[in-house]
Amino acid sequence: MPPTTELPGLSELLATAVAAVGGTERPGQVEMAEAVARAIRTGDHLAVQAGTGTGKSLAYLVPALRHAVEREATVVVSTATIALQRQLVDRDLPRLEKTLAKPLGRKPTFAILKGRRNYLCLNKLDSGMQDEPDDEALFDPFQVSALGREVTRLREWVSDTETGDRDELVPGVTDHAWRQVSVTARECLGASRCPIGTDCFAEKARAEAGRADIVVTNHALLAIDALQGFQVLPEHDLVIVDEAHDLVDRVTSVATGELTSAAVSAAARRAGRVVDQELADRLLEAGDGFALMLEDLPSGRLDAMPEPLAGALAVVRDAAYTCLSGLGPERPADLDVATARKLAQSQLDEVHDTAVRLLRAFDADEAHKRDVVWRTADSGLGPPRPPALKVAPLAVGGLLRERLFGQHTTVLTSATLTLGGTFDSMARSWGLPADREGASTKAEGTATDKAPDGPKWTGLDVGSPFDHRRSGILYLARHLPPPGRDGLPPAYLDELAELMAAAGGRTLGLFSSMRAAKQATEALRGRSELPILCQGDDSTGLLVRKFAEDEATCLFGTLSLWQGVDVPGPSLSLVVVDRIPFPRPDDPLASARQRAVEARGGNGFLSVAATHAALLLAQGTGRLLRATDDKGVVAILDPRIATARYGGFLRASLPEYWTTSDAEVVRAALRRLAAN
Ligand code: SF4
Repeated sequence: MPPTTELPGLSELLATAVAAVGGTERPGQVEMAEAVARAIRTGDHLAVQAGTGTGKSLAYLVPALRHAVEREATVVVSTATIALQRQLVDRDLPRLEKTLAKPLGRKPTFAILKGRRNYLCLNKLDSGMQDEPDDEALFDPFQVSALGREVTRLREWVSDTETGDRDELVPGVTDHAWRQVSVTARECLGASRCPIGTDCFAEKARAEAGRADIVVTNHALLAIDALQGFQVLPEHDLVIVDEAHDLVDRVTSVATGELTSAAVSAAARRAGRVVDQELADRLLEAGDGFALMLEDLPSGRLDAMPEPLAGALAVVRDAAYTCLSGLGPERPADLDVATARKLAQSQLDEVHDTAVRLLRAFDADEAHKRDVVWRTADSGLGPPRPPALKVAPLAVGGLLRERLFGQHTTVLTSATLTLGGTFDSMARSWGLPADREGASTKAEGTATDKAPDGPKWTGLDVGSPFDHRRSGILYLARHLPPPGRDGLPPAYLDELAELMAAAGGRTLGLFSSMRAAKQATEALRGRSELPILCQGDDSTGLLVRKFAEDEATCLFGTLSLWQGVDVPGPSLSLVVVDRIPFPRPDDPLASARQRAVEARGGNGFLSVAATHAALLLAQGTGRLLRATDDKGVVAILDPRIATARYGGFLRASLPEYWTTSDAEVVRAALRRLAAN
């Protein structure tokens, strides 16, 4: 389509936008914006690594808005976290809307779009088709009345809300309560059929998104749009994936199926309203048989399907199919019947399709398997959860290559995209051809064109505005013993106590398990005056706020802290990592992925376990420097990072801090920092 207006150049627009937010021009930001504009022009995909503080959201939003206005097109921006989604929608885009209206010749527009499940469904609320309580809740009057109160609150909220968006309901409600008033895309009657159609919150959000220049969404919805055959996002020609390091995990979650006996019973109860009771009872019995098999099955990965379980699954599959066949006409005249039928059909489809997928997962040999199956274990945290059978794809690269990169120009960005110094690991996981020449893209500003068979793409590292070598020390405690199986070795606790004392608190402890975080908290609370907060003591958001407000306070925790803490300033001067965060050996998905790589002759450990650890380490150690005048130490207690062969790969994945193994040098530096 020809350009409709003569618009100012990118550098002028970027300078206007940066000035409006009170920032200064940063070379990395300019380089990134130009690369995004080039990707838009050429149609080649772009992976761009931009360190914290680059101002990467403006670096992609400005060229994206220019493109959207010039071409009257829609650009999709996808994020992994709600925090970034909020930053874009509440801060960056409103500012750009104001600032760029004049130079762009009109006010640019934006909208946020989430999955249908996120919006209240007025039809479900009106029709009284709420889920029946599950078997356990049925006998617990407290649970039933608590649920009733929440649903009543939701009914009252309907007259207040303009969006029906769950995230705007404060305080929130339980998932169970929300399920009573929402539907999945499969359960929705469709706007043309639904009596509420024109007032539907989800439909309104979609319509608004269809008119917007920029649609902000999340990786899960992007995955549903790309993978599941029904279009949920408006027509678009450019996708920007921020927090792209998380894309594969989010897509994998969307593509993961789960079967529980409760899901079979719920589908049977739903079916009981619209098919012969006898058919529904048969499904209910099939669910009971499946529950018995599941109880007897040890938790963990299944390398072969045990015959009795296969038999039980086949009975579930066939019973669900029989119910589906007994559903009657597809478009019944009565709308209540139509709603009941749609809800039943969706649950029956889910049960049937998952049973089929589980049964087929073992058809291929090891090198060609597509799915991995496992029985879940109870985490031991919170109320006990009944077991489930899960099935997840071993890789999602093929899907992304075909349905994302094959359809739209895509820009992927994050502070962490190079592992071991190249984009190769990430590229492979996305289904893009890796750089066969092995050229390093670690150097700042180095761009590499990749075009061996497969989508054409460019990798670019625009570096970081931080001077890591001057601002941070990487301490590798090579003298410590390797981590053991029985909790933290005493020498780790001694080392941690000394480092914390030297830093005067200000410590973020990133542990590879909750057990280790708790052990360290208990041990150190007994021997240090410094206040120590432990994840789980309160909501993580509140703990991070308390940690940021008081310099002496330390915060210990596990996975969500590795990626979710953004505390600039002196409250965070020391990041301690207890052990290299390899996936647990009993992690079914990681271990199956490792085996699949090995079955094809590759190095499973390096491709899966070391890559996983490198990504988390880069994310975790990236917590240290969040503003240009931040200074501090990253201490890795696990000596294998200095001594093991894969240590070089892991170290090459981290920012280039000044590195030492001399504990006294590190403690002295921390003491100096604390005294300033
Ligand atoms: S269109 Fe779908 S989501 Fe909207 S009110 Fe109707 S059934 Fe609910």
